[in-house]
Amino acid sequence: MPAVNPHYEWPMRKLFIKTYGCQMNVYDSHRMADLLAPLGYGVVRTPEEADMVILNTCHIREKAAEKVYSELGRLRVLKNAKVEAGGKMLIAVAGCVAQAEGAEIVARQPAVDMVVGPQSYHRLPEMIARVTRGAGAVLETEFPVEEKFDSLPEEEMPRGASAFLTVQEGCDKFCTFCVVPYTRGAEFSRPVADIETEARRLVDSGVREITLLGQNVNAYHSDGPDGKAWGLAHLIRALAKIDGLERLRYTTSHPRDMDDELIAVHGEIEKLMPYLHLAVQSGSDRVLSAMNRQHKREDYFKLVARIRAARKDIALSSDFIVGFPGETDKDFDDTMDLVRQVCFAGAFSFKYSPRPGTPASSERQIPEEVKDARLQKLQALLFEQQRAFNKSCEDRIFSVLFESAGRKEGQAVGRSPYLQPVHADGALPLIGELHEVRIVAALPNSLKGVLVEAEYSTRVGESAH
Ligand code: SAM
Ligand code: SF4
Repeated sequence: MPAVNPHYEWPMRKLFIKTYGCQMNVYDSHRMADLLAPLGYGVVRTPEEADMVILNTCHIREKAAEKVYSELGRLRVLKNAKVEAGGKMLIAVAGCVAQAEGAEIVARQPAVDMVVGPQSYHRLPEMIARVTRGAGAVLETEFPVEEKFDSLPEEEMPRGASAFLTVQEGCDKFCTFCVVPYTRGAEFSRPVADIETEARRLVDSGVREITLLGQNVNAYHSDGPDGKAWGLAHLIRALAKIDGLERLRYTTSHPRDMDDELIAVHGEIEKLMPYLHLAVQSGSDRVLSAMNRQHKREDYFKLVARIRAARKDIALSSDFIVGFPGETDKDFDDTMDLVRQVCFAGAFSFKYSPRPGTPASSERQIPEEVKDARLQKLQALLFEQQRAFNKSCEDRIFSVLFESAGRKEGQAVGRSPYLQPVHADGALPLIGELHEVRIVAALPNSLKGVLVEAEYSTRVGESAH
């Protein structure tokens, strides 16, 4: 008997979504699943099982975009096999590659039925209807961002203990290396009331931690219920009042938009986790200016000092690009120096990847082997700092939000306030909850901990004998 959708008494259709790239894509993939649930689509784990496959793509670097075409080649084989066996399979390409390449995707891979940009995926149900009626491949790459959020249904799919919530989309900053302003469109902030409603619904469904998302999340500005303009700080204060919501985070932040109020909120709101991702990209003023980042290295140092003064236990992470056109050895040394001075608990670092249509892509490029050597050097330093930070966590007690089962029997994995994965034996029944954990060992990419309550009960048990 075919599986039945719990909401509707008709045979369940199977949906597989593969997500590439940033957390905003993860959020969008969840929303696409919510959107298609009323049509009878339930999410499955492999494309082999699926009646419909969505690739939710990323265009930020060339490698990310090329991966999509290889995956489409594999899906075409799968689709042909299904059709030969009398079945069918729809293939949709969503996300930023869809936005940037549009009809070119169908030209390169005719097995694709739908191409839908990140601001128009709310139109997927009608696109599916058009394809099923035999309209051929269907494309939607407009930017009706406001309409998108208004048309999305309530959340259908369970999110677990930690969820993303997009509060801001797009970007007006036009860094010379970046495709986001072209693929996600102009900056847009969602109304406060909509965000509060979505946050409450998430909490009612068991979510304990929400990460507010935006390409430039700290540029958030919208009308509050009091008719006044609210920035991100104001929004965080309001969300922190929701009972049952234990943790808040936000990402990604641009240094230029870290205002005094937002810095102050880090010292005021306990629920706001002491871990901040503050992308700097380079430590060289010359490169920062060529990137159009609109701040200097000295501004970044001053900003970090103010944030650390507001919240003593805060740790920082960042994004770096090496091998930007024109980057000299001296510029790269300035980046290494900035890293040494700031000291990061974690970071993402990339080789510059020329993106079509962006100003820096037409500049003279740095040889690949130079980029490789610089990336290796930078990553070694960042990794050393991450290890040192993890080591400094040994013997500390962290509140850990358990999210999933670990590899060992009875073990669960959760996140520390600093987003480090923490493994603890015997914590399996505690998934979805926050518990105190003593960190007993720092591994390079995670921590090992012991539940404080288990330690306590062992001690009580020992003294009873
Ligand atoms: N809005 C954030 C900011 O201003 O820092 C960054 C968001 S961007 C989607 C994520 C990261 O991808 C950037 O911080 C940058 O390090 C990296 N990135 C963007 N374009 C890139 C490119 N052309 N080559 C390499 N890395 C890139
Ligand atoms: Fe891209 Fe961030 Fe620059 Fe906007 S601020 S253009 S998202 S790197």
